[in-house]
Amino acid sequence: MERTMIGCLRGAVGERVKVQGWLQTLRDQKKMQFLILRDTTGAAQVVLEKKSNPELAELISSLPVETALTATGVVVDNPVVRLGGLEVQLESLQVEGVSEAQLPLDPFAGALPSIDIRMDWRFLDLRRPENLLLFKVQTTVEAAMREYWLQHNFIEIHSPKLMGSPSESGAELFEVPYFERKAYLAQSPQFYKQMAMAAGFERVFEIGPVFRADPSFTSRHMTEFTSVDMEMSWIDSHEDVMAFVERWLVHIYERVAEKHGAEIRDRLGVEITPPALPFPRISMEAAQKILKEQGYQLPPEKKGDIDPGGERVLGDWVKAYYNHDFVFLTDWPFSVRPFYHMRHPDNPALTRSFDLLAKGLEITTGAQREHRPEILKEQALEKGLSLDPISFYLDFFRFGCPPHGGYGFGLARFLMILLGIANIREAVFLFRGPTRLEP
Ligand code: ATP
Repeated sequence: MERTMIGCLRGAVGERVKVQGWLQTLRDQKKMQFLILRDTTGAAQVVLEKKSNPELAELISSLPVETALTATGVVVDNPVVRLGGLEVQLESLQVEGVSEAQLPLDPFAGALPSIDIRMDWRFLDLRRPENLLLFKVQTTVEAAMREYWLQHNFIEIHSPKLMGSPSESGAELFEVPYFERKAYLAQSPQFYKQMAMAAGFERVFEIGPVFRADPSFTSRHMTEFTSVDMEMSWIDSHEDVMAFVERWLVHIYERVAEKHGAEIRDRLGVEITPPALPFPRISMEAAQKILKEQGYQLPPEKKGDIDPGGERVLGDWVKAYYNHDFVFLTDWPFSVRPFYHMRHPDNPALTRSFDLLAKGLEITTGAQREHRPEILKEQALEKGLSLDPISFYLDFFRFGCPPHGGYGFGLARFLMILLGIANIREAVFLFRGPTRLEP
């Protein structure tokens, strides 16, 4: 018999079905047994009148919750059942994977253990439907990203994660032994997506892992994360990149709202509303003034930059002033940007770059890149880089490279914002941090 997904049982009333899933709860009464069976599409009640099959009833009595089961029975309409107004009258049961009786983490217990225990037993924690929902949403988000890029003639690339020299800066770099020499784990696909511009691809994207040896413990940093990157050629300035990002994001919100809006509302109490276009834009200089007015003091080492506290204050200000969750922070000083960001032609102290903040959290950095090799070289030297290790990169610009720009976007940070998740550890399948390499 073919399997019926639990979410499709309504269409099978009166029929004999096979359902497969986990035993979420068992109510073992004197005459009746009620099993709640759960699969990825929902949960349903399965019932057995004990005297109809005492042997089966005895087996069921012995089953620990979270055991994996195959059940067959007839679907009947029953308006008093809270789960979908129907139930499956059990005829046969196969125990596929029995659970140990003592769960280290009961996904359906009233109170959940600490985040560390939940990470130790992440596969049990992930059995909760709200967690499953997160990954259904993530799947839709990535599909919507790709859909939008493909509509706009982008090409997908997969760049290497093993590199011979740092891709961003020497800081936060993981070194790995590599035969007779050292290699580094890619901190971003930056150099390679720019190589695709030099290769004449014009528009590329990549969704892939990146690595940062950041020893800090924050709610927004991981040592390995999924970076969403794009790069496009023949732009006039970073404005073209921002105009692209905001439309791309609206498309993602629309797809998530269509597909999961109701479930997100029910399970998480979050309303998915596509943001209004255009997103507000604030220059870094204006942002610094706003922070001052708001009485927020940036730490002195953050001159010309912004810190997480400042991002939050600015996010609140944008919400109050523009009633918007997003803001582009533009025109960053060259002093706090990487060497490859293009300077403003009329003000070399500033770059044609932006960060995108969402509800006060940085989710994206983007810029027009410097594509003129002589200037790029000068900027690298100005930042104190040695040219030798990046000579392969500088070569990209020597044989006709068009003006271009792009962005890097943190997938997990976006999911935090989209679904109202407070900690990045909860927004990924498996978290990697300074003290977390297992499971
Ligand atoms: P931050 O200032 O928050 O450390 P960053 O300026 O180092 O971030 P970028 O190098 O601009 O970040 O990376 C692009 C995007 O990747 C960021 O906007 C963010 O969404 C995401 N990101 C960066 N670092 C991390 C991290 N350690 N863990 C998760 N996501 C990250």
